[in-house]
Amino acid sequence: MADFHVLIVGAGRLPPPPLAPKSMLSANTPQSYKRYGITGLLLAQALKKANITYTLFEAEVSAEAYRPRQWGLSIHWSTPLLKRILPEDLWERVHEAQCDPFYQNPEVENLNIYDGTTGQKMNHMYNKKLTSIAPSEDGKTVTATFEDGSSYTGSILVGADGTNSKVRHLLLGEEKAIAQPASTPEKPFVFTNSTVQYKAEQALFLRQLHPTFYMCLHPEGGLFWVSPQDVPDQNDPSTWKFQLFMNWRGTTDRRNVLPELKVWASKLVDPWKSAIEWLSDDEVIETQKIAYWYPIERDNWGGRVTLAGDAAHPMVPFRGQGLSHCIADVTSLLAQLQAHLQDNSGMPLAAVINEYDAEVVARAGDEVKTSLQTMEFLMTWELVEQSPSFKRSADPNEAAMKIIGKA
Ligand SMILES: Cc1cc2nc3c(=O)[nH]c(=O)nc-3n(C[C@H](O)[C@H](O)[C@H](O)COP(=O)(O)OP(=O)(O)OC[C@H]3O[C@@H](n4cnc5c(N)ncnc54)[C@H](O)[C@@H]3O)c2cc1C
Repeated sequence: MADFHVLIVGAGRLPPPPLAPKSMLSANTPQSYKRYGITGLLLAQALKKANITYTLFEAEVSAEAYRPRQWGLSIHWSTPLLKRILPEDLWERVHEAQCDPFYQNPEVENLNIYDGTTGQKMNHMYNKKLTSIAPSEDGKTVTATFEDGSSYTGSILVGADGTNSKVRHLLLGEEKAIAQPASTPEKPFVFTNSTVQYKAEQALFLRQLHPTFYMCLHPEGGLFWVSPQDVPDQNDPSTWKFQLFMNWRGTTDRRNVLPELKVWASKLVDPWKSAIEWLSDDEVIETQKIAYWYPIERDNWGGRVTLAGDAAHPMVPFRGQGLSHCIADVTSLLAQLQAHLQDNSGMPLAAVINEYDAEVVARAGDEVKTSLQTMEFLMTWELVEQSPSFKRSADPNEAAMKIIGKA
């Protein structure tokens, strides 16, 4: 165990600082941020709990570099897995990461993200953009090299580097690794995801239908989602931020689709109608690229390189299953690494990583397909009732139990 060391590529960042009041923001200031790197940070926490050493690497230049766009992550069946792999003190604080930390809903569990090595701000791992990986001659280690010329060697490398994973491309080559766009010339879709704010009375109105999220479908092929994204002050609705995840059939040859969205508002009822109509005309609703990739059996260099999270199975977000599979990956990988590191009777690394890869391919591959089908069905009114979301629950606890049973 002493010599075993895990390299994690893709480690995200700490939660952003509180945002400036809207009046202080310039036109170029991003008004919301996505918290990237969940899989890498979670794996770090799980390894820490299991006393396995690791080093994190992240392409972003610093912990302060945030990208615009943000969405909420709903955890479903992976909650028991999360509880199992997180250190107890972090599990106790998981509720703090809810979009609205004041909202009491025992059925909603969220993941709070911290630096996996020290619990403090991490600078040493930033500005490390992976460029290449190489096995040692004896096959016992793997070396990762980064854009700044630095190299690090470990026992195993985990690519947790998101949808367009560099690790996946290096393992499989461009042709096999490339993620497919969910909108194509044959089946064009407009995807948008924005974080917006309203006046206090408008914000209150928009939370009346449901306090966490609601969505509607339109017969012409549209899906309109509203959910609170951030509730900094429970008593001041003007501070609340909302996520609008609005999608419809159509081509994406333009950047700002607000005028088109306003036309949709005229076809919808409240609260979706007002959620759109109340957007100011200078708001920019950008189109978004969404991609997917079917996980496949692959050479893992004798168990020295593997994938986790979106890197292993980017999927369209129409069943909200991405994060649950990230958590399941970490649980499954940790169990396999522990089986390898067991005193005396440790399984060979190649065997345990083969088993992990196969489990991910079977579990998440099915979800990549189901999510894509769900997207198409939801945007096709006649087929809505046949959607897997209506036939199949988003809470297949047996998936979580299966992994725990294996561990
Ligand atoms: C609109 C939308 C809504 C969603 N809603 C939900 C939901 O409700 N529920 C749910 O479960 N899931 C949802 N998802 C999916 C969920 O966001 C993802 O599954 C999850 O965030 C993936 O986390 P990750 O850590 O695997 O990847 P990422 O968050 O993409 O992190 C990858 C990290 O790797 C770093 N990186 C990339 N390349 C390199 C490199 N070469 N070298 C070093 N570092 C690198 C990146 O900078 C980043 O920090 C949604 C997705 C979208 C788009």
